[in-house]
Amino acid sequence: MSGAEGRRVVQVGRWTVTALRDGVFALDGGAMFGVVPRVIWEKLTPVNPDHTVPLATNPFLLENGGTKIVVEPGIGHRWDEKARAMFHLEWPDGGLLASLRAAGVAPEQVTHCLMTHGHWDHIGAVCGEDGAPVFPAAAHWIPESEKRAALNPDHLRRASYRAEDLQPVVDAGLLRTFRGEQEILPGLRMVELGGHSDGVSLVILEDGGDTACFWADVVPTANHVHLPFIMAYDMNAEKSWQVRSEWIPRAAAGRWWNLLYHDLHHPILKFAKEGNRFSGSYVD
Ligand SMILES: [Zn+2]
Repeated sequence: MSGAEGRRVVQVGRWTVTALRDGVFALDGGAMFGVVPRVIWEKLTPVNPDHTVPLATNPFLLENGGTKIVVEPGIGHRWDEKARAMFHLEWPDGGLLASLRAAGVAPEQVTHCLMTHGHWDHIGAVCGEDGAPVFPAAAHWIPESEKRAALNPDHLRRASYRAEDLQPVVDAGLLRTFRGEQEILPGLRMVELGGHSDGVSLVILEDGGDTACFWADVVPTANHVHLPFIMAYDMNAEKSWQVRSEWIPRAAAGRWWNLLYHDLHHPILKFAKEGNRFSGSYVD
């Protein structure tokens, strides 16, 4: 892995894929690395005095002519002072909409918004500070199981979901749901996996012989490519192991572009295999 800042734009056939940036925040390092001992993970990432580790929220823009797709909107600004302090939440680049404008796209031009699962750090930015959806012309997609969890979370899920993130999208008639696998457009699909959450999904783009995959929380950062590095946040660790064992080798063998939501420095990476160990590999 190179220490340099990774690339933020890649071409996939006719599609231009750009890493955007919403907020940066921090979560408990132990929770982020699950059963991996601190003596190992503390060498991989900076650690704050409160034992949290810094993380990005990287939405991605997929553009092909007039089709402009936002994958995973971001954490959003609807957080009180207490939460902002606890999660070290900041928007150094202004947040999702500023990042989108810097890429030359107005929110009204966004045609699709794809949400892999309903956790608040992934979909909070789908509504603005006024509580209304920020992409008024976009078809919004989320797995049916994640819609259910977000709108009516039980005690196990309550800490990870907020109904107010998704209800306005439902009320505006903008939300579509799927089960299993869903073609969004030719060459672009969402694949429901589960493990991390009930219906966490991959977004897979294939065009012109190239493949890009958005990993959501199945592989949150380049430090989570090695198969045993499963977060303690995952609802079903055995299922996470299964889906990671199936998909990470496939991505490495296929030389896919991998789009990582929580990686601060390497949002777009290839995966490599050395012996039995998978890792992120920075490619110019
Ligand atoms: Zn999540």
